[in-house]
Amino acid sequence: MAWKTLDDMELSGKRVLTRVDINVPVENGVVTDATRINRIAPTVQDIIQRGGLPILLAHFGRPKGHRVPELSLQALVPSLEAAFNVPVMFAAECAGPAAEAASAAMQAGQVLLLENTRFEPGEEQNDADLAKGMAKLGDIYCNDAFSAAHRAHASTEALARELPACAGRLMQAELSALETALGQPDRPVVAVVGGAKVSTKLDLLGNLVAKVDHLVIGGGMANTFLAAQGLDVGKSLCEHDMAETAQQILVKAEAAGCQVVLPSDVVVARAFKAGAANETVAADACPPDAMILDAGSATVTRIETVFRGAKTLIWNGPLGAFEIEPFDRATNAAAATAAALSRDGALTSVAGGGDTVAALNKANAAADFTYISTAGGAFLEWMEGKDLPGVAALG
Ligand code: ADP
Ligand code: MG
Repeated sequence: MAWKTLDDMELSGKRVLTRVDINVPVENGVVTDATRINRIAPTVQDIIQRGGLPILLAHFGRPKGHRVPELSLQALVPSLEAAFNVPVMFAAECAGPAAEAASAAMQAGQVLLLENTRFEPGEEQNDADLAKGMAKLGDIYCNDAFSAAHRAHASTEALARELPACAGRLMQAELSALETALGQPDRPVVAVVGGAKVSTKLDLLGNLVAKVDHLVIGGGMANTFLAAQGLDVGKSLCEHDMAETAQQILVKAEAAGCQVVLPSDVVVARAFKAGAANETVAADACPPDAMILDAGSATVTRIETVFRGAKTLIWNGPLGAFEIEPFDRATNAAAATAAALSRDGALTSVAGGGDTVAALNKANAAADFTYISTAGGAFLEWMEGKDLPGVAALG
């Protein structure tokens, strides 16, 4: 590995500035899913056990360089204390005199949480002065936020160049799992790309066709491809202005010998709600007043055949509007097949993305996947073979 881990660092008596991702969902002041907090606990506890003082840097929401009281990290203190089982102090800034005083006052066995890094305009600008201000608070930099590593921000990139730097336990686990599964993947490799964010993922698709043997396109994204081929997709989620890009991706896939699987049949409905009346029609027979909300069973059968012939599966994006039944059927069925093949040792399966993980959990398939990444954007960029600035800066 090109980067250091906590094992390579002398931590005793050292203040360890640790970048974490605790951007958890909160409703009415209550954390509704503490997964991200629980996943960084091993790093925090490891630092404490080895005599270090963990100082946490994190972003929360999108305050865009302004102090937005509702996005203060102070609200997360009780959840952090519950997860780490140690007292968590709070400083109302992530750099500056108050943060320095809080850092200096830390006692062994405590954690210090700094205020939302994105309250500072310099954070998203990867500002060197902000990074220098942060660096004054610690002796060592530890990055445990793989899911934020695709962004070159002051707390993920510039700061790594100010202090001796290493990867935290979660970052280490993500990187080694992805590297093991996909560094030199067993072929054939199939990628499933679905979901809603059509324009952001078209870029991903363009890069993937050169790397994988089969590309399954599903979800709202598939509609853009069907429309680009001249099919009427009615009222479906579709980006018609991306038609040309979609065509180019298909041409590139053909040239690269990548077999693209698009829906041949689709589930359509007139309303985007649970239990809406629906029917399965051929992909070229979507009624003008209907929406495509899922892949049909013939398409699922084809996807499953591709899975059975593959050795490695990379999955981002559900095949349909999985949150509303019955439009979760294609995702559930394909996920169950991938899970069974993985359980049998026939397939190495890796998935990532916020909604993808939710969909695989809902399908009871996640536990059988070889690896589930907590990251969305970073996972996608890693899949594309891009260098992640936050990881590169550790090298
Ligand atoms: P991830 O978070 O895993 O990267 P996305 O956010 O890109 O995934 O996509 C998930 C969303 O895509 C879900 O909310 C799902 O309802 C939506 N989606 C999938 N297929 C369709 C479709 N045919 N029409 C509308 N929305 C869809
Ligand atoms: Mg999403």
